[in-house]
Amino acid sequence: MALPGARSPRGSLMVLAAALALVTGGTWGIQSVAIERLLVLDAVSTAHNWASYLAQSVDDLEQIAEGNEPTAASRALLRRIQKVGSIFHYNVFDPGGRLRMTGSSTAIPDDAPTIRRHNPAAAAALAAGQPFTAAKTGTPPDSPAFFTEAYVPVTLDGRTIAIVEVYVDQTEKRRLFHTTFLLAGLALSALTALAFGIPAVAWFRRSREKIRAEAHARYLADHDALTGLLNRDCLARQLAAVLVARQGDRKLVAVHYVNIDRLQDVNDTLGHPAGDEVIRTIAARLRDLARGGDIVARVGGDEFVLAQIAADRVAADKMARRIADAVAAPFRLAGREIGVTASIGVALAPADGEDEHVLIKSAGLALHMCKAAGGNGIRYFAPEMDRELQDRLALEATLRAAVANDGFELYFQPVVGMPHERLIGFEALLRLRSADGAAISPARFIPVAEEIGLIDRIGAWVLGEACRTAATWPDYLRVAVNLSAAQFAAHHVRDTVAAALAASGLTPGRLELEITESLFMDANSGIMDELRSLKALGVSIALDDFGTGYSSLSYLWRFPFDKIKIDRAFVVALDDADGNGETVLRAIVGLGRSLGLQVTVEGVETARQLAFLRELRVHQIQGFYFGRPMPAREVAAAIMADFHRASAALPAEAARRA
Ligand code: C2E
Ligand code: CA
Ligand code: CA
Repeated sequence: MALPGARSPRGSLMVLAAALALVTGGTWGIQSVAIERLLVLDAVSTAHNWASYLAQSVDDLEQIAEGNEPTAASRALLRRIQKVGSIFHYNVFDPGGRLRMTGSSTAIPDDAPTIRRHNPAAAAALAAGQPFTAAKTGTPPDSPAFFTEAYVPVTLDGRTIAIVEVYVDQTEKRRLFHTTFLLAGLALSALTALAFGIPAVAWFRRSREKIRAEAHARYLADHDALTGLLNRDCLARQLAAVLVARQGDRKLVAVHYVNIDRLQDVNDTLGHPAGDEVIRTIAARLRDLARGGDIVARVGGDEFVLAQIAADRVAADKMARRIADAVAAPFRLAGREIGVTASIGVALAPADGEDEHVLIKSAGLALHMCKAAGGNGIRYFAPEMDRELQDRLALEATLRAAVANDGFELYFQPVVGMPHERLIGFEALLRLRSADGAAISPARFIPVAEEIGLIDRIGAWVLGEACRTAATWPDYLRVAVNLSAAQFAAHHVRDTVAAALAASGLTPGRLELEITESLFMDANSGIMDELRSLKALGVSIALDDFGTGYSSLSYLWRFPFDKIKIDRAFVVALDDADGNGETVLRAIVGLGRSLGLQVTVEGVETARQLAFLRELRVHQIQGFYFGRPMPAREVAAAIMADFHRASAALPAEAARRA
């Protein structure tokens, strides 16, 4: 992978090769120039030698230069040396530059060109007492391929007596020089190559390995080892880049924060390798969902983020659903089919922020809220979630503290029997106060206690406390205790109840357990047996909040309940102008009666509501009309008040009968 900012070793090697070529090419250019110069120097020295030889050997050279015929001896000599070594021609001029002899011939016409006319540059050099040389090329066989023409002044006693022009054939010499220089050049290049090349190749290999190692390290630093997806750090960086790139166009960036629900169950039942396989498969499925520019990262054990460049909110929603489907698609593991679900929190840029950290945090918050609501769903970030989360965390802390420091309190709400309207018992209702003393509704804190696994301990405390308190009341009064469905998960409700009864000495017949329909929702096959074993203790069992749930009535005759408690909502509906409330309540009460169950109606607040229920002949009534939930210390007064009311009613009743 080519990395920005880093020079690749290949590039560096090319630079080196170019430098080497430059050195070699450069030396070659320098060599050519040098060879020419050497050849000229050689020609000058050859010409000089030849000219001085001529001056010494030809006694009458001065006379010849003056235009006289050479002596017979000189002529013979001149003929002999006409072609000696590399000299292939010569001319003799008089000191003024007029041609007097060419080769050994002195038959020179009078109008033969002078040096000045023929070669002004040479004439100028000679006038200054200097020899003159020029390298020339020719066409064989008329003239050599390369030769030097040299004008050499011949002096005697400080006087120039003649000028000799010598033609030196340097074709062979040049070839020889070139070959020698070429070999030397090659040797130099080879040496240069060895000197630089070996370290260069070693360096090239080393840096290539280094870059590979660096790339690998970077890969490891940016990616999750199990899935090969980006990790959280890299996600933040890439998301930042996407957000910057998005600015100015109308697209959204949707950050989908995904958590696999109950992955722990897979780990626990099939082992960690199976859990890893689920994670890897989900990673691959998410990668398949990503389109160009989208980012997929694994940000925690069972948490992923898919940052999507979305055309609009609809596209973002579609993606969230696709993610949910992708996670929920079944897996085959160790010959078994496994299903998990996803909780997804979504935050959108620019609406929810334009900073990558803010967006990831907000999507995480939405995910948290989704989880808190039971998981397996999609939640979009909303600004109030921050507040919600803080509240939730504070509530969890309050609950833990209350469990640790005996911080709960039990209130008791009167239940009266009809038609006499006499107190027959109390329902125990749990109370919790926040640090600032404000009451927290059990409808709010009970579900949280269930989620964070505290309901078992709290439920056991309620049972113990309710039984202990009720044991101090007159025998005819009963106590009702609410059991949450989550308390049945651990399969020891019977033991907890038995322990509370034993510890308090309360007669089992005075304890009533209230359960809700939700208990039958989870495919908990053992629940009927468990309820039966509870009943075998001698306690009675009521179905609470009747009519509000899924109202699949089948369980009504599959289990012998003692009582149904009709939800307050039906009493509230009595005040509806259309009168339907009365019809519905009448039907529900009728259903309970016809199944042979006791019917309690909750939430009765007014005399008018009471009047109607009296007419329906329900068995018990509970509501603010007869009394609000009260602390245990006020129960005695309530019992006394009920007693006095009954006593006062007795004479009136007797009078009425009389
Ligand atoms: P629930 O079992 O249906 O309890 C009756 C609720 O109705 C109580 O609310 C009670 O104060 C309220 N209520 C009774 N009469 C009236 C009335 O005339 N008007 C109005 N407006 N309300 C009335 P509370 O105490 O807030 O409890 C709420 C729920 O919390 C309970 O509903 C029950 O589901 C749960 N809960 C309370 N204590 C416990 C407990 O110890 N264990 C479990 N598992 N759940 C509990
Ligand atoms: Ca109840
Ligand atoms: Ca209820």
